[in-house]
Amino acid sequence: MHELGITQEIVEIVIARAGGARIARIVLEVGKLSAVLPDAIRFCFDLCSEGTSAEGAVLEILEPPGRVRCRGCAVEFSLDRPFGRCVCGGTDLDWLGGEELSIKAMELA
Ligand SMILES: [Zn+2]
Repeated sequence: MHELGITQEIVEIVIARAGGARIARIVLEVGKLSAVLPDAIRFCFDLCSEGTSAEGAVLEILEPPGRVRCRGCAVEFSLDRPFGRCVCGGTDLDWLGGEELSIKAMELA
């Protein structure tokens, strides 16, 4: 489960940014094509934040949909999984968005 390492990193970053202040809310952006499971992040967050200034913070996760373009016929469409097939049957897809994994915002208590 690579979400544990990712969540550990996120917690370390927000704690460093907060400079010792308690964190009330964290907003993450986890694209649908990032292959990271928001539920796993939530689960790991409770573990990783225990005993830190991020403990008890509200974790909000935004999930922007994936945008892809078919290399076969140039049609653009949305995907909510990291794989898919174009209406033309093509599976050779350019990913335009939805791979985001970032900290969008945080609020101090
Ligand atoms: Zn196509």
